[in-house]
Amino acid sequence: MAVATVVSLAALGGGAAPPRAEGGACTLAPGALTVDDLPAGSSVLDCAAVGRLVTHAGAGVTVPDPGMKVSVDALTEDGSLHGFTLAVAADGTVSYDDLTDADPDADADADADDANAASAHAHTRASVAAAPGRARAACADDAYATAGHKEYDTYEWFLGDGTLPGNLAPDDARRALEDAIGTITASRNDCGFGDTVTAKARFLSRTGNEADIDRDARCMARDGVSVWDAGDLSGGVVATTCSWSRAVSGGPDSLREADVRFNTRDHTFTDHPGEACSNSYDLRSVATHEAGHVFGLAHVGESHESQTMYTNSFACSTAARTLGRGDVLGLRALY
Ligand SMILES: [Zn+2]
Repeated sequence: MAVATVVSLAALGGGAAPPRAEGGACTLAPGALTVDDLPAGSSVLDCAAVGRLVTHAGAGVTVPDPGMKVSVDALTEDGSLHGFTLAVAADGTVSYDDLTDADPDADADADADDANAASAHAHTRASVAAAPGRARAACADDAYATAGHKEYDTYEWFLGDGTLPGNLAPDDARRALEDAIGTITASRNDCGFGDTVTAKARFLSRTGNEADIDRDARCMARDGVSVWDAGDLSGGVVATTCSWSRAVSGGPDSLREADVRFNTRDHTFTDHPGEACSNSYDLRSVATHEAGHVFGLAHVGESHESQTMYTNSFACSTAARTLGRGDVLGLRALY
């Protein structure tokens, strides 16, 4: 019976229009896919796409299991965007967010089904309209964007056992990163905003596991362990965060894992940028930005340079160590 059905559908299709034939089945070419190979609306089950790499505009993610979402966010030297989100619904249907590299503020589009993200989007647009093309002081700019996930419990993270950014000793690196993550969870700022944010994090230990991020700054299959480490990423990329979350009805997705890698092959980092600093990145500033991604913040773009979640990074600057008004408002919207 089943065989007869397949044969008759194949006959109707006449061999035209692969890869979609035979009643929803789908055949993917080997190797890395693009978003056009696995378009929104296709099924990871029909296409056997779980575990396959999907790339877009210099970024990439590995297709997760149904019910999961994966986001890649790369912090670049020049502000060019490398990041998008691939979500797989419980029934296997694929959808994408932020499939653009032309409009930084489009990052705020986030998940159209997510009320928080939708309101953040409107919020950001209003701010852009109010101050076109001009940076506003950190405490006056209320722009933020959310990515559609949050940490509902405690973000438990590990430090990789390889070389660490800035060649810091493990204890020093752990302290710097713990402090940066703490800036997000405690919404530390110089604007006088009290901390109403309930986000929590805990450092566990060093680990032999690695961040599941490859040398092209693409998210690989996750190993279930949230690791911060250092290694080789694409040249223009300073650091990358990959976050995986599970759908929650009526709220932002629930974070399951988030890995962060600093590109120590192409860039240098320091915990003490002083007058002698010329081309190093302040580890705590970059780490605070990445921690923002971990806890569900997305980028704000042009004219929002004063915010920690601005799209690019500034060598030797410590400004992103503390949050701007928009960063705080974004965290308050989530927590
Ligand atoms: Zn970023």
